[in-house]
Amino acid sequence: MSKIAIAVEGVTVRFGDSVALRQVSLSIEPGELLLLLGPSGCGKSTLLRSIAGFVAPEAGRVLFDGADVTQVPPHQRQIGMVFQSFALFPHLSVGENVAFGLREQRRPTSEIQERVERALSDVKMGGFGARRVDQLSGGEQQRVALARALVTRPRCLLLDEPLSNLDAGLRHSMREEIRRVCKEHGLTTLYVTHDQKEALAIADRIAVMKAGRLEQLGSPWEVYRTPRSRNVATFLGETNLLEAKITALEGQTLRVKAGTLELAAEARPGLEVGQSVLLSIRPECLQLSDVRQSDAAFSAKTLKSSYLGEICEHELSCQGLSLRAYELNPQSPHAPPAGSELWVQVRRSDVVLLESEPTA
Ligand code: ATP
Repeated sequence: MSKIAIAVEGVTVRFGDSVALRQVSLSIEPGELLLLLGPSGCGKSTLLRSIAGFVAPEAGRVLFDGADVTQVPPHQRQIGMVFQSFALFPHLSVGENVAFGLREQRRPTSEIQERVERALSDVKMGGFGARRVDQLSGGEQQRVALARALVTRPRCLLLDEPLSNLDAGLRHSMREEIRRVCKEHGLTTLYVTHDQKEALAIADRIAVMKAGRLEQLGSPWEVYRTPRSRNVATFLGETNLLEAKITALEGQTLRVKAGTLELAAEARPGLEVGQSVLLSIRPECLQLSDVRQSDAAFSAKTLKSSYLGEICEHELSCQGLSLRAYELNPQSPHAPPAGSELWVQVRRSDVVLLESEPTA
């Protein structure tokens, strides 16, 4: 199968009075697995459906390998799709379900048989062809849905919450399977999810959406470590948001003050002393200790601590600010009582300056 590039240029979609997508532009590299992430109703499915051709944009274009397909009907776009519901035909066998698209194309019976068998073995369902779909587990049905999408040799794969009907354990293993299949087939893939862990685990890049807009596009590392906005920072895990002012610029280091708390952050162009900024510090970036380990450490008191197995979660009070901190691999058998004193440090690179929110 050939790898194709997908480009979305300035796509706007409106349903009646409401705007589901606002001037969205993004490109998916040939063979890339791009995860589309965002809260419910932000426009993820609408973007996927625009690429598939089921939704007509009011403005903008969709390009496959540079060719404008905006007006091309879905069945001529050579896409494979998998939906949340799997959308299998319950009265047909596994083999008949997978063969469906090829029968529509009026392929010879021998070719259909061979391709169905290969697609089923690709998703580790070889030998299940004669089984009825309603006799399969959720994970097996998901594999059949994937085989059905692959059998027509699509140019790209569009997956809309393909794992949300599966239990947590199965979701975990199936997401790796999906990545394997996409990479083995060199498929350019857009995968919609609202599960940040799923996105971080398998994506080449993640596109984070909010209210019909694309907020950030980057590798899992980039979007988690250096979120651009409050929305991205809070959607991808927990964070502490602190309003602060820039007090000094010292080469690569920016001095900021949140209330009376002084912190160092990475400098970047375009910032001025006196400017107000919003900081994001992930709870696991706050390093806790019983003793003061450096001049940059500051003291804090615990308000509440909860032992959660792999972490102990602390609510801290520090110079009038509330901070959440995660202590990884806690060694004490008891969470510390409220009012315990701790020292806290944070690396300069873990203090992230967020951009101001886009206005609607
Ligand atoms: P979810 O995660 O809940 O599936 P989503 O991010 O995929 O959400 P969309 O399904 O793309 O969101 O919907 C974006 C917005 O467009 C929502 O406000 C939704 O109500 C609206 N919308 C989607 N499809 C239609 C439609 N056919 N007619 C009217 N409004 C629609």
